[in-house]
This record gives sequence, structure tokens and C-alpha cells, in this order.
Amino acid sequence: MVSVSGATAISFDAPELDGLKATLVTAAHVLDREGIADGYGHVSVRVPGADAFLTLASVSPGLAAPHRLIMLDLDGKYLGGARTPPNELPIHASIMRARPDVQSVCHTHSVWSTLFSVLPIKLRPLHHYGKFLPPDGAPVYRLAGLVRTVERGDALAAALGDGPVILMRGHGDTVVGSSIEQAIQRTVRLSKVAHLAHLALLHGEPEYLTAEELDSYSSDERDPARGWEYYARRAAAGRG
Ligand SMILES: [Zn+2]
Repeated sequence: MVSVSGATAISFDAPELDGLKATLVTAAHVLDREGIADGYGHVSVRVPGADAFLTLASVSPGLAAPHRLIMLDLDGKYLGGARTPPNELPIHASIMRARPDVQSVCHTHSVWSTLFSVLPIKLRPLHHYGKFLPPDGAPVYRLAGLVRTVERGDALAAALGDGPVILMRGHGDTVVGSSIEQAIQRTVRLSKVAHLAHLALLHGEPEYLTAEELDSYSSDERDPARGWEYYARRAAAGRG
């Protein structure tokens, strides 16, 4: 059971978490279907009203299922579900502790993010899909290696700051959102923008979108349901 500020508590098996678990499983399948996650990568969601989160219990995103989820508190302590914590759980615990506004954290070893994590140039928005990126480029967490300790998790959270994305040198990326749907769509769009930037750079210096131009686009949160419906449908179709 999770202690919540107040008298209520919630357990991993509580029916009110069923919807959130189903969305989390779909999110993992989307990462797999879109080719962003391979056998690794994970996505988490904060348990409403509790200092806890749900994530994949050390299972490949494409094999995610409700019984292969785990609930942990923000110190990484086991609270319920499958008893196999993910390797890099401090990514989720440290960011959720540092960022009360964040409801979902997504970490992948995205090929396109990794590419821009090791280049001397920054990944800057050159398509409106990258509207959530800083105009001067996505920040990079420079410490190599997996994030398996609280110290590394806290360092990653500090590098993320109050932004939506951090590239991780020689590793991948971590993307946050105010919902699972937003974190996943940002992750997919980050991959698309990085792929496009790679292609554009083959031809010379791209004409990036300016901060003023980026402001002229509507928020990336304007119609999240449409993109989510599309990716969820593709993921479901791909599973027969
Ligand atoms: Zn990783």
C-alpha cells in the first residue's frame, strides 16, 4: 500500500489503477512499434496522489503486460507488482522527485537521439514537431554509463532541469511529459526531428526554426489525443 498525504492509500492491484496500467502498456508497445525502443527502454507514470510510480518490471517494451509492471516509491522502494525493478529505475525516481509537474518519464536508447548526443553540433528544432525543444538545441547529459544509482539519477535530473528532454551521451534520451501520452509523443517526435536533422545536415547548414517562429505554432499539447490514437492503433495492429 502507498501512503498518501491524507488518510487514503492505494495498492498495486487497486482497480482504479487499471486504466493507467493499460495506457502504460500501450505506451511501451508504441515505443516498440515505432522502432524507438528495442529490447530495452522504459516508460513510467506517477501514481495519482501518491509519492510513487508505475513502470515496466525489467521487461522489453514490446513484451509489456499489466502483470509485468512494478510500483515503486520515489526512493526506489518496492511497493507492488512484479518483483524485478528496472535496471535504470533512478531515472524515473530522481526525475519524479525533482519535478512535481512531471507525470510520465520515458527513457529509450533511441538511435537518433544517441547520434546527436555524441556530435559536436546540437539537435535544434527544424520542424514544428520539435517545438518542445529549446531553440538553441537539446541539452546533453555527458556522463557515460547506465543510470543505476541515486547519484547518477539526481545528476541526470539536474541536467534535465525544468526542460522536457535530455539527450544522454552515448546512451539515448530521457523525455518527460504531463501525461504518458505527451511523453510518448514527444519521444516519437524527438526521433523524427533528429532523423530529419541528420538528413538536412548532409546538405549543409539547415535553416532552423527561430524562437519567434516556434512560438507561432500552437502548443504540442493542443491535440494530443489525435496523435496518441494513431500510434496506439498502429501498435495494436502490429500485434495482430
Ligand atoms: Zn538506458
